[in-house]
Amino acid sequence: MHYIKKCYHIYMWNILQWINRQVLYTYPLIEDCARCRDCGRNVHDYHVPDEIWLKVIGSEDGVWCYDCFCNRADKKNIKWKVEIIIETIS
Ligand SMILES: [Zn+2]
Repeated sequence: MHYIKKCYHIYMWNILQWINRQVLYTYPLIEDCARCRDCGRNVHDYHVPDEIWLKVIGSEDGVWCYDCFCNRADKKNIKWKVEIIIETIS
């Protein structure tokens, strides 16, 4: 049931994104980019140490955006902070 609710949530999000692309043009979703399992948004690259990821998610599988990862960490009361590393990828 939880899985169906999540699918429905992502389905509705995709409809909103479609409307957005056609009418509002504010946040175009990149179709071939990874999507967050919780909210369906595109996931931008960020780094979390493996041990923290495993504590929060419990598995190496899956893709979560930064916001949803932080929400899950908060729910488990796991405190962490990100360090920004700037790299140029040519
Ligand atoms: Zn998300």
